[in-house]
Amino acid sequence: MGAITGQQFLTRLRQNPPTLYIDGARVEDPTTHPATANMCRSLAGLYDLQHQPELRDLLTYEEGGERYATSFMVPRTREDLAKIGEAHRVRANYGLGFLGRAPDYMNANVMAAGVGAEYFNTCSASIPGDPKRDFAANMRRYYEFVRDNDLCLTHALTNPQVNRSKMASELPDPYIALGVVEEREEGIIVRGARMMATLPIADEILIFPSTVLKENADKSRYAMGFGLPTNTPGLSFQCREPIDVGRDPEDHPLSSRFDEQDAFVIFDDVLVPWERVFLLYDVELANKAYAGTDAVLHMAYQVVNLKIAKTEAFLGTAQSIVNAIGSGQFQHVQSKVAEIIIMLEIMKALEVAAREGATLNKYGVMTPARGPLDAARNYYPANHARLPELLQLLGASGIIMMPSKADREGPLGPQIAKFLQAGNASADDRLKLFRLAWDMAMSSFAGRQELYERFFFGDPVRMHSALYEVYDSREAVERIQAFLSRKDTPATEAGSGAEVAHA
Ligand SMILES: Cc1cc2nc3c(=O)[nH]c(=O)nc-3n(C[C@H](O)[C@H](O)[C@H](O)COP(=O)(O)OP(=O)(O)OC[C@H]3O[C@@H](n4cnc5c(N)ncnc54)[C@H](O)[C@@H]3O)c2cc1C
Repeated sequence: MGAITGQQFLTRLRQNPPTLYIDGARVEDPTTHPATANMCRSLAGLYDLQHQPELRDLLTYEEGGERYATSFMVPRTREDLAKIGEAHRVRANYGLGFLGRAPDYMNANVMAAGVGAEYFNTCSASIPGDPKRDFAANMRRYYEFVRDNDLCLTHALTNPQVNRSKMASELPDPYIALGVVEEREEGIIVRGARMMATLPIADEILIFPSTVLKENADKSRYAMGFGLPTNTPGLSFQCREPIDVGRDPEDHPLSSRFDEQDAFVIFDDVLVPWERVFLLYDVELANKAYAGTDAVLHMAYQVVNLKIAKTEAFLGTAQSIVNAIGSGQFQHVQSKVAEIIIMLEIMKALEVAAREGATLNKYGVMTPARGPLDAARNYYPANHARLPELLQLLGASGIIMMPSKADREGPLGPQIAKFLQAGNASADDRLKLFRLAWDMAMSSFAGRQELYERFFFGDPVRMHSALYEVYDSREAVERIQAFLSRKDTPATEAGSGAEVAHA
C-alpha cells in the first residue's frame, strides 16, 4: 500500500478503533468522539501532506515500485539522513512542533529496529529459523508491515508509578507491572499495565522496557518486546482528561487541533502471538534494546528536528508579539528574544553536528552522531520551560486579556476592535496571535506540554547519569594529566620559556 492519505487513515481507525476510555465511557469511534475527533483530523492532515505535489518527493521515497513515508526510509548516506531530517521538520512544522508523538517518531524506531533486527536473535529465547520464534525475522517483518501500511504507532515503556523504591516483583501484586503470565502454543499471555502511551489514537502499540530492569530472581518475566493492534482483546487505554474542550480553533489554536492524548495502558491477559514477539526473558538484551539497534539515535534525530520547529514557533510568536505592541526598542525585550534565538541556534547546530558526524553502523545504516544528540535531548528538557516563560514576560497582560471570537462578534465588538487593536494590526489579528501565545505558554495544553518536555525522553536525572556513563572523557582527562605532569623548563635555562609553554 505505501504512503496513505488522511482519508485512508480515518477509515482504518473507524473500522479498527482502539479500546479507549474517556470520562468513564468507551470511545466507540475516535474519529467522531468530541475529545478525539479534532486530533484524528489533524493526523489525517499530516498523512495528506505527503501527497501534496510540492512535498511528495520530500515526504515519501520510492522502493521496489512503491512509495513510502520518508520516516521509514533506511538512510545509507548523509544525503539520505538530510532528506529524513528535512521531512521530519516539514511534518513538525505542521503542528508548530507541538505534536510530540506524530507517527515519524515511532517510524524511526521500527526502521532502526527492523534493519538492526539481528540484534533480537541474540536473545536467549529466540529460535533462529523457527517460523514463529525467530525474533529477528519477527522484527524485520514488523518493520515492513508497519511501513507497507503506513501505520500509526503509540508506545509504552514504563511501569505504573506505584512504589519506585520497590522492584516490580515486590509490589502488592506481581502483575501490576506488565509481565509474562504463561506461554501457549500460539503466543505469550501478558498481564499488568504500562504508565503512559501518548497518541493512543493509533493503529498499533509497541511495547519495550525503557528503564533498566533491576536484577532479581524473577526479573526475566518483565523483559519483553512486542507489537500489537490497539484493538487487541484484553487491551485497553484509560485516557487522561481531554484538553480539547471543543472550542473554536481561533480561540484555542493548539488545544483544539493537537491534543494527542496520553493513556494508561491495561493488559488483561492479552495474547501476543509469537510472530509479534521481538524479545523475551532476556534482561540484558532488554536493557540495551534501544542502543543495540541504534533506534534511540534515529528517534533522537527526529526529536532534534521537531524541537527546532517548536523553538522556531516560539521565536515567531515572540517576535510577532513584540511587533504587535511595539516593545522592540527596549533592551530587555531584545535580550529575551535573543534568548530564544540562542536556543534555536544551539538546536540547529546540534542537528548539523549529528548529521555531519553520522557514520555507518554495523547494519549499514547511516546513523547520526550520538554526542550532539545526547546533548540535544538533555539540553532541551532542561531549558524548554524558559520558552513559555519568555512569552509570558513579553506578552504580559496581553496573554490573559483576550476576548474570544464570540466576544468580538458580540455587543462589545466595536469597543474591543478599538481598544484591543495592535500597533500594527487589527484587534482580530492581535487577539488571534495572543490566543496562540496563551495556548503555547499558559493554557492546560501548555501545562501538559511543559511536563511532556521534561519527561518525554525519560527522567532527566537518569538521562544525565546515562550520559555520564557513556560519554568518553578519556582524552580530556589525559590532557589534564599531561598538563599537570608537565615540567616546563624555567625561563633562566631556556630563554623566555614561552616556546615551551606553547609546545
Ligand atoms: C506528558 C507525558 C507523555 C509521555 N508519553 C510517553 C509515551 O508515549 N510513552 C512512554 O513510554 N512514556 C511516556 N512518558 C513517560 C516518560 O517516559 C516518563 O515520564 C519518564 O521516563 C519518567 O518516568 P516516570 O514518569 O515513571 O517517573 P518516575 O520514575 O516515577 O520518577 C518520579 C520521580 O522520582 C525520581 N526517581 C524515580 N526513580 C528514580 C531512580 N531510580 N533514580 C533517581 N530518581 C528516581 C525521578 O527523578 C522523579 O523525580 C510520558 C510522560 C509524560 C509526562
